[in-house]
Amino acid sequence: MACPLCGGEVQQQMRTYAITYKHLQTDVELPGIFCCSEHCGEGMVEESAWDQVEKIKAELKANYLGVMAPDHIREVRTHLNLSQRKAGQLFGGGPNAFQKYETGKVTISQPMNNLLRLVAKYPELMIELQR
Ligand SMILES: [Zn+2]
Repeated sequence: MACPLCGGEVQQQMRTYAITYKHLQTDVELPGIFCCSEHCGEGMVEESAWDQVEKIKAELKANYLGVMAPDHIREVRTHLNLSQRKAGQLFGGGPNAFQKYETGKVTISQPMNNLLRLVAKYPELMIELQR
């Protein structure tokens, strides 16, 4: 593989990127392909790393909005012994809602966040939601 800009040699490297959401920022190491020529500097992050970038962005957004991050939602759900599908039925949002929350595709709403916080603290409340 050659550099698409100058035709020079390229190299695989890990580089630090700053991911931001509003005023929040986090640094992350990502694999990429970079041109070896000093005068060129062409480089791009590998496609496989984009999921990681999306996940970090989702975490920053959750942090900014003051709601649970994807990993935290998964932790609460598995602690309650619920499948993603079952959690979507019980708390609302539909069968795919938790899959979206836990991959960071959708940020949970403030009401859903509050509901999960309550049920995480008082799991016996779950029985009130069952129909
Ligand atoms: Zn180049």
